Amino acid sequence: MVNMNEFALIDQYFKSIVGVHEDVHLGIGDDAACVSVPAGYDLVISCDTLVSDVHFLSSWDAFDIAWKAVMVNVSDMAAMGATPKWLLLALTLPDVDEPWIKRFSQGLQAALAKYGIALIGGDTTRGPLSMTLTIHGIVPKGKAVKRSNAKPGDRIYVSGPLGAPTLALEGLNDLALETSIQEELMEKLLRPIPRVDLIPFLQDYASAAIDISDGFSADLNHVCTASQVGALIDLKAVPIHHALPHYCPNPAEFALNSGDEYELCFTVSPLNEDQMLRQIAVLGIQCYAVGFIEKKLGLRARDTDGQIVPLNPKGYRHF
Ligand code: ADP
Ligand code: MG
Repeated sequence: MVNMNEFALIDQYFKSIVGVHEDVHLGIGDDAACVSVPAGYDLVISCDTLVSDVHFLSSWDAFDIAWKAVMVNVSDMAAMGATPKWLLLALTLPDVDEPWIKRFSQGLQAALAKYGIALIGGDTTRGPLSMTLTIHGIVPKGKAVKRSNAKPGDRIYVSGPLGAPTLALEGLNDLALETSIQEELMEKLLRPIPRVDLIPFLQDYASAAIDISDGFSADLNHVCTASQVGALIDLKAVPIHHALPHYCPNPAEFALNSGDEYELCFTVSPLNEDQMLRQIAVLGIQCYAVGFIEKKLGLRARDTDGQIVPLNPKGYRHF
């Protein structure tokens, strides 16, 4: 963007929301940012792009768009067992719509403040509405939780009920949902809360982890492929959002293929399970055991009749 508004816009709506962060030596305003990673920690980095009318609707409140953009990036950090610290925002805007940018910056500020994340820079360009966020987090050296370390016999956990965001989208399209239910589901779609509460437990106990963005079956399949293992899921054990049985003929299948969840799927050795469950229970956190990692490749499910059937990983794909 070459008009003079670009710099005023950055100062007013982005630089102004940054706050004070001791580990940021240089933030917005220089050619690059400079931060200090504490001794004994690894730096964990990820980026995610959100495109208008693909990842969000342009009609949504800009506050919600910013919130979601931050939270999907935070969720990637949580899935690595990393604490989110520093964010870069590359924002492409069709024009300078100040009320929109103001709401966007308010959503950004609220989301950053929730986890003490510093906005340390970015880029501002003109074009179709989209944003690419690059997040940096820290994890004690060697403790980043990968997708590739699940072992046969490990138990598979899901951190919360699934299905709400996809049911919310179906409600927006053609499914007639009760108003109070639609509102509850929209909250899940628009204001995801990534599972940063699980970060220390993943570091200590998880053999592998992934956040559920494409859909549980597709994301578990990523873990299995990376770890060169398979999985057996007990359909009866899959936690589903309470509204699903009222609107879906096959709630478990709907939940298994629902994307945009930002719950975590992780695996834990049976040797560590009891200790982990005791520790998360102290904090009032419940996770759901849904199956086991197996040596046999591929995904399988035990259906409600006790039959073991192949489970097709289905989830969101761009191409
Ligand atoms: P450059 O000419 O080096 O690309 P810019 O003019 O794009 O610099 O940006 C000026 C400063 O503002 C840089 O420090 C950059 O990181 C920051 N910045 C630009 N856009 C954003 C944004 N959307 N959010 C946060 N910081 C931004
Ligand atoms: Mg630039």
